[in-house]
Order: sequence, then C-alpha cells, then structure tokens
Amino acid sequence: MNYCNYCPGYCCYRLKGSVLLIDADDINRLARHFSISDGQVRKRFMENRHTFKVKDDGSCIFQASDKMIKRCSIHLIRPMQCRRFPFNDTCPYLDREDLLALIQPRIEKSLKCHWLKKSSPENP
Ligand code: SF4
Ligand code: SF4
Repeated sequence: MNYCNYCPGYCCYRLKGSVLLIDADDINRLARHFSISDGQVRKRFMENRHTFKVKDDGSCIFQASDKMIKRCSIHLIRPMQCRRFPFNDTCPYLDREDLLALIQPRIEKSLKCHWLKKSSPENP
C-alpha cells in the first residue's frame, strides 16, 4: 500500500535539522511548468540556494492548505528528493509518535484556518 496517498504530508513540514535539497534540474522543471525563468523560480519560491520557502506553520509553500490528503500542489513536478523520500525505508513520520505529535497540530490548525476563512460571510 502506498501510504503517501492517504497521508496529509507530514514530510512536507520543516523540522529542526531537516533539509529539502532542491537542485538545478528541479528548478528547471518548475520553470518550464510555470513558464518562467530559472531565476524567477529562485526569486519566487526559494528561501536560499537549495530550499523552498515555508509558510508560517513551517509547511512547504507548495502544500495545499485546503486538503486533508494529496496536498502537494506540484505533485507531478515535485523535486527529486520529495519523490525519493523515504528512500525505500519505512516512513519515519508514520513510525514515530514524537514527529506526529509535532506536526499533527499544525496540519489541523492550517485546515481549520482554511475552512473558517471559507465559511466566513465575507467569502460566500
Ligand atoms: S513519505 Fe511519509 S510523511 Fe511523506 S507523504 Fe508519504 S507517508 Fe506521508
Ligand atoms: S514540493 Fe510537494 S512534496 Fe515536496 S515538500 Fe513541497 S509540498 Fe511536499
């Protein structure tokens, strides 16, 4: 079973010590997808040479905030590291209660914020 299809993307939240390494091929794939230059990809989406920006809750900027599962909004063109994780091993996020305890509240909060905004009378 591919648990990723049923997972809210725990691995898409930045934790202390974790690194997402984006390489030049990943950047070029994004550039072609969005019809912009590699430089514009770096400017818009990258925090530094090798890492995407994150939102306030520590989630990757490409995490969709309105879904419980399949939340990567660039799934088909996602970086190689995202494709390979967890590198033919057991997913550590499903195996470790400490990691789940760190990230689950953030996921619930972001979904709650989204649905509250959506149900506000100002957003019919
Ligand atoms: S690798 Fe693990 S945490 Fe990431 S989406 Fe798949 S099951 Fe979820
Ligand atoms: S690009 Fe997609 S899979 Fe990779 S960290 Fe961001 S949201 Fe997760």
